[in-house]
Amino acid sequence: MDILVVGGGGREHAIIWKLSQSPAAGKIYCAPGNAGIAQLAECVPIGVFEFDKLTAFAKEKEVGLAVIGPDDPLAAGIVDAFEAQNIPVFGPRKNAAEIEGSKTFMKDLLHKYHIPTAAYEKFSDYEAALAYLRGQGLPIVIKADGLAAGKGVTVAYSREEAEQALRDIMVAKVFGEAGAQVVIEEFLAGQEMSILAFVDGETVRPMAAAQDHKPIFDGDKGPNTGGMGTYSPLPHIDEAIIREAVETIIEPTAKAMVAEGRSFSGVLFAGLMISPDGKPKTIEFNARFGDPETQVVLPRLRSDLLEIFLAVAEGRLADIDIEWSDEAAVCVVLASEGYPGAYPKGVPITGLEEAGDGLVFHAGTARDEEGRWITNGGRVLGIVGRGANIAEARNAAYTSADKIHFAGKQNRSDIAMKALI
Ligand code: AMP
Repeated sequence: MDILVVGGGGREHAIIWKLSQSPAAGKIYCAPGNAGIAQLAECVPIGVFEFDKLTAFAKEKEVGLAVIGPDDPLAAGIVDAFEAQNIPVFGPRKNAAEIEGSKTFMKDLLHKYHIPTAAYEKFSDYEAALAYLRGQGLPIVIKADGLAAGKGVTVAYSREEAEQALRDIMVAKVFGEAGAQVVIEEFLAGQEMSILAFVDGETVRPMAAAQDHKPIFDGDKGPNTGGMGTYSPLPHIDEAIIREAVETIIEPTAKAMVAEGRSFSGVLFAGLMISPDGKPKTIEFNARFGDPETQVVLPRLRSDLLEIFLAVAEGRLADIDIEWSDEAAVCVVLASEGYPGAYPKGVPITGLEEAGDGLVFHAGTARDEEGRWITNGGRVLGIVGRGANIAEARNAAYTSADKIHFAGKQNRSDIAMKALI
């Protein structure tokens, strides 16, 4: 079966790497893909919002399945567009992807169905939001309602910071329409973790748990990024807590979506805070694979990913078994100088071949006219090490990462340390 994967980052590289191991997989296309993905798939220059071109391409090539990677086309209804052309597709419809696309929708849903999350109020009027904010304690969390490329959330430790965040969203409108509404939310203390699950209606199949590192610098210092590294499993978090999170958050949310007429199909990704007394609460939901969580979760998947995708797309996830390996995986992201701010492109990369004994997922690379590797994004590469435990996997990841060089290369040196202390 030929497959079309939509997207072009490290997440899509990891998905294609895993799909390519499936005996039933034929040719894999990726739109738009990247230079690393081009080693495994035929990249086609169609953008992720060009729904008509994407569906026409899928029809012409008679692909048996389309897989959608990124959040924004899901929120814009790409799955509905493929379904309208009778092309099997893995991902949630627009009305289900809203669980990520609108924080007010997500918070109201969880509130209605008594699913644990931080206390909140929502506002579309600036003055009312400001008055409410001034009556709250610190720290406090300010969130733009819509998709803001991961930058719409401020955890404010001072009044000035909190009011600045509110002004940015509602007055300066730095996130445009995504900031037409704002959520002001109780600060939750504790340990963060993510659980990804395959979901098809009320059927939930949790994947291996993973943990991201958002800030750019060691010790969680500096501005937030798309994610600087991940590890899986989480040996310092009790299995019972993970089970509780699935039973009290993910499964009830899947049921609630069905009850609301928004049955979810695809990957539901819950960002959770585990309180010091061990209770999980929801911070956010994503309606797709995380990047770079995928890069450590899929290497631990023993089962055939194509079979799982097809089962979800055809509504028979309940009938299949999914197996995970006990092995650990650690991903270290190599980023361009200046990221998450402005960064240069076209910087030569060396050492990729030498690092080849680990898994190297490309997020932002290209090739110059002579075919040499160059940087082409903020996050450039995700280097994954595997081992019997986190310490071994971490060593493997850093050993490979150290072999790769480009001017201004940035990476955190403390990925997965929390699991070892
Ligand atoms: P989000 O995009 O909603 O996941 O938020 C980004 C980051 O902000 C999360 O990964 C948390 O570290 C932090 N955060 C969001 N909401 C809260 C909250 N209610 N309490 C504490 N930290 C939060």
